Amino acid sequence: MTRVYETESPEETFALGEMFGRAAKPGQVICLDGDLGVGKTVFTQGFAKGLGVKDPVVSPTFTIVHEYTDGRIPLYHFDVYRIEDVDEMEEIGYDDYFFGGGVCLIEWAEKIREILPGGVQVVAIEKNPEKGFDYRKITAEGFEKAEYEDSGN
Ligand code: ADP
Ligand code: MG
Repeated sequence: MTRVYETESPEETFALGEMFGRAAKPGQVICLDGDLGVGKTVFTQGFAKGLGVKDPVVSPTFTIVHEYTDGRIPLYHFDVYRIEDVDEMEEIGYDDYFFGGGVCLIEWAEKIREILPGGVQVVAIEKNPEKGFDYRKITAEGFEKAEYEDSGN
């Protein structure tokens, strides 16, 4: 299923991430696509909150992956922007994350496309200058219907 959302503020993107986080299941690998500054980390911060993560979520740009284990299931937050070769993913033992009991969110996943497992889910975030500075179009692909629905209330 593909579903399109529109947000008008970081808070709305955070809330959308939170909704997906509440529905997250072990084994999910979610690629976050979109240019620098589009809101991938904001979405992830909301997602973490939806999982019940209390630790502050900051971008793992210099370390490739941050693990948050204080939520309902482990969250592995990747930012692979600076990766030059997928060997760097081998070095951190990426398959333990992809095929572990948690959920992976990967910023700049297109850089490591060749090692992504089949059946990944995608959340693509885009700006549209005609619709204002804070407008974002957010397209979610590959999720089941239940994962789109806000079960939190
Ligand atoms: P990325 O991780 O994609 O590089 P960040 O999440 O770090 O981007 O930053 C997104 C920036 O865009 C933040 O400064 C945020 O306040 C701003 N912003 C403005 N409007 C939105 C929106 N609708 N959704 C998400 N972020 C927004
Ligand atoms: Mg980021």
